[in-house]
Amino acid sequence: MLNTLLRLQDLDLKIEACKAREAEIPNQKKKFDIQGERLHAELEERKKACTDLELEQRECESAIEQRNAQIAKYNGQLNTVKKNEGYQALLHEIDLQNKQIGIREERIIAILVELDEAKARVEEDSKRIDDELNKIDRQRGEIDTELEDAIRHREELEALEAPLEKKADPYLLKQYKRIRSSLKSGPALVPLQDEVCGGCNMLMLPQAVNEVLAGLTMYPCRHCGRLVYSAEHANFESNAEAAPKGTAD
Ligand SMILES: [Zn+2]
Repeated sequence: MLNTLLRLQDLDLKIEACKAREAEIPNQKKKFDIQGERLHAELEERKKACTDLELEQRECESAIEQRNAQIAKYNGQLNTVKKNEGYQALLHEIDLQNKQIGIREERIIAILVELDEAKARVEEDSKRIDDELNKIDRQRGEIDTELEDAIRHREELEALEAPLEKKADPYLLKQYKRIRSSLKSGPALVPLQDEVCGGCNMLMLPQAVNEVLAGLTMYPCRHCGRLVYSAEHANFESNAEAAPKGTAD
């Protein structure tokens, strides 16, 4: 009887671990999603650096155009101005416009150099980011497979429960299930360790210790409510890998 329940508990704890893993797996995927978003944002930023420079170049070009138009206008006025003062003032204005044009022409040269570098960086980073995004896609696929495997494994374990429950003592099974559901997780059946409950490490009463050691019964711990059994009388060892097969009791 004890061994059947212990096998059932072993199964339940494995199923519990599977469910915890199933819950954890989507979180890993979320991590990759965030990583992917960051890479996309990085690439966008690189591209924006290029478009910003191109925009600035166009602004410089149109400013030069406007100032050239202004200079042409001043040049026209030079022929009509009679006074020397006015003439000098116009020459001064033309000089100022030319200086402004010079500043923008220099800026355009610098922009072209920066643009070359920025474009080379986009190309380089695109390759790296593409590689990383492909890797993320692969890892996301692996996670999907892992989740499918975990679910399948859990379902296989769950299928083993009903036959064991049928074999178990109905009264003990009911107690076991009640304790398990009130604990939410972890074992409901714990071995006696010396004179202490293997679940909460609190001292058991001598009478309880004697009854457990006699191997006749499982005794509820008065501190945590778990059922305490004698490991000496239990003929069961958890197999962490494969699901336990229902053999000798
Ligand atoms: Zn206890």
